[in-house]
Amino acid sequence: MKEELIRKVQLTDKEMPTAWYNIQADLKDLPPYLNPQTLKPVTAEELAPIFPPEIIKQEMSKERYIDIPDEVQDIYHTYRPSNLHRAYGLERMLGTPAKIFYKYEGNNATGSHKLNSAVPQAYYNKAAGIKRLTTETGAGQWGSALSMACCHFGLECQVYMVKVSYNQKPMRRTFMQTFGAGVAASPSNLTRFGRDYLAKNPDSNGNLGIAISEAVEDAVSRSDTNYALGSVLNHVAMHQTIIGLETQKQFEKIDMYPDIVIACAGGGSNFSGMAFPFVRDKLQGKADTRIIAAESAACPSLTKGVYAYDYSDVGHMCPITKMYTLGANFMPSGVHAGGLRYHGMNPIVSKLYHDGVIEAAAYSQLDTLKAGMAFAQAEGIIPAPESTHAIKCAMDEALKAKEEGVSKTIVFCLSGNGYFDMYAYEALLAGSLKDSNAPEIDKNKISLPKIAGLQE
Ligand SMILES: *Cc1c(COP(=O)(O)O)cnc(C)c1O
Repeated sequence: MKEELIRKVQLTDKEMPTAWYNIQADLKDLPPYLNPQTLKPVTAEELAPIFPPEIIKQEMSKERYIDIPDEVQDIYHTYRPSNLHRAYGLERMLGTPAKIFYKYEGNNATGSHKLNSAVPQAYYNKAAGIKRLTTETGAGQWGSALSMACCHFGLECQVYMVKVSYNQKPMRRTFMQTFGAGVAASPSNLTRFGRDYLAKNPDSNGNLGIAISEAVEDAVSRSDTNYALGSVLNHVAMHQTIIGLETQKQFEKIDMYPDIVIACAGGGSNFSGMAFPFVRDKLQGKADTRIIAAESAACPSLTKGVYAYDYSDVGHMCPITKMYTLGANFMPSGVHAGGLRYHGMNPIVSKLYHDGVIEAAAYSQLDTLKAGMAFAQAEGIIPAPESTHAIKCAMDEALKAKEEGVSKTIVFCLSGNGYFDMYAYEALLAGSLKDSNAPEIDKNKISLPKIAGLQE
């Protein structure tokens, strides 16, 4: 095939990978999660009230490849393998000699990569005899994905949706309800935590930390119910490696290998999914790929945070994790890329950044949405506000290649489409979109757990 003719690289159903890649097999000295009370490494028993055994096993597993169950593969096949596209339109627009590719994860009903982990999580819970799952959702993508997965496996699904999004994004709410989920505006009166919070703050618009606390309380209080998380944890990152494993097969098919791999990073799940298989090659000395996490300047945990043990949630119910963090009390401004507003980062992504294996860059809202609009015009897909961070990063790298007069091969993960988020583009078009970068961050003033001996 003439290279000029490769617009998209497709895999057949048979070529879809049948195992996820567990990077924990290839990394040493990963700091354990700690119990916030005892400061001892968290045990499987401590996680059992909210997660099924297989998920707990995966979270701590050292096995390099973990088979994707047939039932999960069946659902993956309804929307995977996803295509690897060559961004000719964008290359032309930039006048760059770089070859730009993107892996499109928005081609399922929920519009994002999150379904890749929602499906196995629902499956393993069903297999463990669980009848009902709870979760939180901010912008709504994760709640949508879990609703759809629960519907497929006949599980009930209760979503605590941050109140401000509940009111701003009625279509996301309706989406979840269409798949049979219960959706409550959080803080809600369904939980004790929610009722207490509302009593003190009747006008609260909610935030993810509150919604997590409600969803966890709900799950802990019922034996038929578990909790599911859409990012940050290692098992979620591992489920997403289907993205990078497919991408590698697709590059093999056209006899190429990328010089630069890019994905946006909020909690780190689509970044992990895209990057970890390339990190594996890099650690084995097979390639010297640059791997870049693109984060929001409103919540720059990698580029402006500290690498330390911190709480993963506002209610301090969840394990303490060693990660890049801005402090569990950090309140990012309300940018449209709701999925990039987490104060911390997946612990493995954090370690790889600390060890210099991967890079990170932060981008502000105006720059990224403008890049998103340029991408839409060049390529015909309106990207999710989160994904525009990866696009902006790829465009900058392509322009650098132009300046230097070298042809680089760049691939980024287009984690989702923006069809539920048109109000972000509406604001950009109306000229009312503002940057809301994080204020100057003093690393010495980031609030960390005040526990003696923790940070040694
Ligand atoms: C949730 C979301 C993100 C951010 O989450 P990660 O876990 O960092 O991947 C990015 N893009 C889209 C489209 C999302 O829905």
